[in-house]
Amino acid sequence: MPEPTINLFSLDRIAMESFFHGMGEKRFRVNQLLQWVYQRNMTDFRKMTDLSKGLRERLNRNTNLDLPEIVRQQQSGDGTVKWLLRLQDRNCIEMVYIPETGRGTLCVSSQVGCGLNCTFCATAQQGFNRNLNVDEIISQVWIANHVLEKTKIREPDIASHGGPDRRRPVTNVVMMGMGEPLLNFENVVSAMKLMMDDFSFGLSRRRVTLSTAGMVPFIDRLRQECPVSLAVSLHAPNDELRNKLVPLNKKYPIHRLLESCTSYAGERNRQRITFEYVMLKDVNDSPAQARQLSTVLAGVPAKVNLIPFNTFPGTRFEGSDMNAIHRFREVLMSRNILTITRKTRGDDIDAACGQLAGDFLDRTHRSRRMRQHPVVFP
Ligand code: SAH
Repeated sequence: MPEPTINLFSLDRIAMESFFHGMGEKRFRVNQLLQWVYQRNMTDFRKMTDLSKGLRERLNRNTNLDLPEIVRQQQSGDGTVKWLLRLQDRNCIEMVYIPETGRGTLCVSSQVGCGLNCTFCATAQQGFNRNLNVDEIISQVWIANHVLEKTKIREPDIASHGGPDRRRPVTNVVMMGMGEPLLNFENVVSAMKLMMDDFSFGLSRRRVTLSTAGMVPFIDRLRQECPVSLAVSLHAPNDELRNKLVPLNKKYPIHRLLESCTSYAGERNRQRITFEYVMLKDVNDSPAQARQLSTVLAGVPAKVNLIPFNTFPGTRFEGSDMNAIHRFREVLMSRNILTITRKTRGDDIDAACGQLAGDFLDRTHRSRRMRQHPVVFP
């Protein structure tokens, strides 16, 4: 019986070392292989010329480097690129690239759909299908780098900024695509370790951010196993309201969530936790709620990210107007909480926060927009 073929994208360094050890290969071969695959975009074993011929043949026989297929690529007027990827089981996921001066951020999905049911999020409407495997997570970064390098769709000055993190189009990863990353803990951690491996993408911990709706036990585990930058989707200053917006709050209420955030930050030399707060008109955007939020966050090393609500068909929410957002921010700032209003990017292609749906539902305007921004795929 031939050995079953294993997808090498599914192995982090530890797993790959043990795989190579099992083949009687030296450990440094892992570095070579990682460099070929992740740094030189090579998926043809036969061309990995510094590996022995025998090893190349065995890899060719027993392993593969299969990738999800790009079904669609859309570019927004503001440079944001969204891809729809088809997995082997024909499920689809989305990922989004956001170019900014000096950096390029890839928003990566961790699940097909999402089971958390946050009431203001488009992904929730799709329901939960399954967790992504390690290869399906890491290959999002691989594909984005590869396509962007080939097509030169990126800010021209990213390359000139020096530093090992910054040479590739993807300089930052945020686990803020579809899904709740902490509910796919093992696979997400393995993939993030690969993102940070010096022989792979070599991103520093600061440049990898995981966003969670508040899976408290896993925040504690993440601190121990892979302390990347942490973002928390808070969205409300009290449990009563948060229970309605983020139903997970009924299980892990705000005080427990903030306790685990504080200990997370402590381990990281008081590295601030980012709290995401989507601004919903007449729901969570009053000055009184801003004051309540500042009280709740007192003592937590916090940074607040106010996110303008991105609308989607069928939602009952409306976004706060700019004045309300401005006032809310002023209150927080006056109480010494660093607060940033996030710019909405890619909303003309439904690529903004909470708009990822990852299916083929034709929302009428979507096909029109695709024609507006056709992208020729290499
Ligand atoms: N499940 C994780 C990862 C998803 S991150 C989490 O909840 O953090 C996606 C971010 O976009 C979250 O902060 C989410 O609350 C926010 N979001 C969801 N729907 C949105 C919408 N319609 N407009 C703006 N932000 C939204």
